[in-house]
Amino acid sequence: MAVLVTGGAGYIGSHAVAALLERGEDIVVADNLQQGHRNAVLGGKLYVGDLRDGDFLDTVFGENDIDAVIHFAANSLVGESMKDPAKYYHNNVYGTLCLLEKMNAHGVKRIVFSSTAATYGEPENIPIREDDRTLPTNTYGETKLAMEKMMKWFDVAHGVKYVSLRYFNAAGAHAGGRIGEDHHPETHLVPLVLQAALGQRPHIAVFGEDYPTEDGTCIRDYIHVSDLADAHVLAVDRLRQGGDSAVYNLGNGTGFSVKQVIDIARQVTGRDIPAVVEARRAGDPAVLVASSERARQELGWNPTRNKLEDIIGSAWAWHQANPNGYGDR
Ligand code: UDP
Repeated sequence: MAVLVTGGAGYIGSHAVAALLERGEDIVVADNLQQGHRNAVLGGKLYVGDLRDGDFLDTVFGENDIDAVIHFAANSLVGESMKDPAKYYHNNVYGTLCLLEKMNAHGVKRIVFSSTAATYGEPENIPIREDDRTLPTNTYGETKLAMEKMMKWFDVAHGVKYVSLRYFNAAGAHAGGRIGEDHHPETHLVPLVLQAALGQRPHIAVFGEDYPTEDGTCIRDYIHVSDLADAHVLAVDRLRQGGDSAVYNLGNGTGFSVKQVIDIARQVTGRDIPAVVEARRAGDPAVLVASSERARQELGWNPTRNKLEDIIGSAWAWHQANPNGYGDR
């Protein structure tokens, strides 16, 4: 039996592939390589194509004995989603519809889904729990919530069981040194700070210092990408054991401000990282911190790489060794 990983050439997907390989799973990766990197796929069988192409999915499901899908393939830039909602509805929502229809047609009834804290929008409570209100403040989060709901109704109608994993801020790189974060354009705080440390950017911009937090900058919950990857493996186990559909937050439960992240990056790298305060970025809640109690209890998830120094340290090792990422853009 093989696990199909859609978007397995992307940042989090490639780390999930690595975790599955370490477990000795058979893996099939489907990725259109629009954002993913061929060299990020450390093993398994790679099919290059798009989920919206029915013939492509028929080939993938027809040629392999797939019993579970982990679904990462999506666009994930908040800013872009606000400017081009159609792209997000088409690729994320319609792409997921195509995938679910083909899964159902081929009798595949298990899916682990890459969701996001952006489904909550402005939080009601900190830490955020899975039953809190979901009211996304951007198109990206809205499409991810729509995808979750689609899975719910495919479960009701067809018994397709899902585990939706709502990530907080993924960061870091695999300990093996061969895979890490490489987005074009890069928009995330940790890689941008490290690019500034390498001198590839003149400074890091701090988006707003007038938030209602201690130092005025936004607080986020940073979680190591390999800890996220482990949760996907546990979620596949849950579904294979007959577990019911479920939604889980994935974070460390500790918040760090933008200024704290920059300070820790200065310590880890030993480099001077100039920071310049700029205007707030639209749609950023002041504080996002997860309660992951449910994932710990029900999945047995135990994130072990939870010190921010170590998360940033692993990303720094990747950026130093691969200053141009995978070098394919
Ligand atoms: N951020 C920043 N400067 C940057 C990029 C991000 O100050 O160049 C802030 C951003 O406003 C947010 C935090 O860093 O408060 C994390 O942003 P990121 O884009 O990494 O993740 P998000 O929270 O959007 O998922």
